[in-house]
Amino acid sequence: MQVPLLDLKPQYQSMKDEIMSEISSLCDSQMFILGQKVSQFESELAAYCGSAYACGVTSGSDALIIALMVEGIGHGDEVITSPFTFFATAGAICRVGATPVFADIDPHTFNIDPAQIEKKINSKTKAIIPVHLFGQTADMDPIMALAQKHNLVVIEDACQAIGSEYKNKRAGSIGDYGCFSFFPSKNLGCFGDGGATTTNSEKRDGLLKIFRNHGMDPKYYHKYIGGNFRIDALQAAILSIKLKALDSWHQARQRNAAEYNELFAASGLCGDKVVLPAVADYCTAHIYNQYSILVKDGRRDELRQKLTEAGVGCDIYYPVPLHMQECFKSLGYGKGDMPISEAVAGEIIALPIFPESTSEQRRYVVDSISKALA
Ligand SMILES: *Cc1c(COP(=O)(O)O)cnc(C)c1O
Repeated sequence: MQVPLLDLKPQYQSMKDEIMSEISSLCDSQMFILGQKVSQFESELAAYCGSAYACGVTSGSDALIIALMVEGIGHGDEVITSPFTFFATAGAICRVGATPVFADIDPHTFNIDPAQIEKKINSKTKAIIPVHLFGQTADMDPIMALAQKHNLVVIEDACQAIGSEYKNKRAGSIGDYGCFSFFPSKNLGCFGDGGATTTNSEKRDGLLKIFRNHGMDPKYYHKYIGGNFRIDALQAAILSIKLKALDSWHQARQRNAAEYNELFAASGLCGDKVVLPAVADYCTAHIYNQYSILVKDGRRDELRQKLTEAGVGCDIYYPVPLHMQECFKSLGYGKGDMPISEAVAGEIIALPIFPESTSEQRRYVVDSISKALA
């Protein structure tokens, strides 16, 4: 049996006609930049996320960059974030000229630990970027309290967490900004690159929309230096169609996760050999962009090899925490500085969880893990 880590084709097949007819009419109109399709998707996305506004941009990476730009964060400023995330979170901070400051993660949720954030706040700190990893939000109440106390901006990296909930509030609606990615492998993916930045502030939304278009307002008058961060109308039109099905895909992922939990519980692997993904009490909806387990006794790489041989797709998010990346050497971190991130990076492995994967495939995955770790 072959079990891919992710297969997007069944999802496309289920809505191919609607998407192709939308693409065809957009091609007929030749209206490719911003316009009605983009503003329509922005309203739908804002409503879905429980935010007042949404601004469609070129990618999740740019969604982070544009929020930092609007806040005027740059040289000499520090931004606190997680070392256990996709590179773009810290990359965005550097791209605006600011310095990423890492705070270690909670060992259960793999999200930034508010107690570690507090230790890193100083007079240069301007913002916190909590990352909602794998589809579960970070612990936002203590983060918002710290931000309020120290007058910091909170930019949620919700790139993996569209629709996930913290105490019934949706990811991206809690901080000053929410940043989303529509990279194809995210729960809501487009046909290429795309992203969005949400906010509850009319002023911030106005600035986001000026900054994504070279800081231009009105036409050919530039009060700010922005960039070309505009989402394609084609991507927005596709995303409007796919957004309607997003909750059903989330539900399928949640069912698949529950099934894995049962299969693992019955396998006798839990505890000694593997640790299942934890769902925090505050998390009222986990959207399982990934289902990642920890593999104990230094056997993760061996398991990865054996699963690959058995035809089971798996991957490691993330093998090297950001404070250990070569490009961040000048920041001065070393091994042992973020012990929890380092330990998790050595044990974690993601298993297939995509909506259309079958029970039979999940049984095969868990059987293959039992055999590999026997
Ligand atoms: C995917 C992702 C990004 C970047 O999004 P792109 O659309 O690929 O630029 C940023 N942060 C996190 C946590 C992500 O998972």
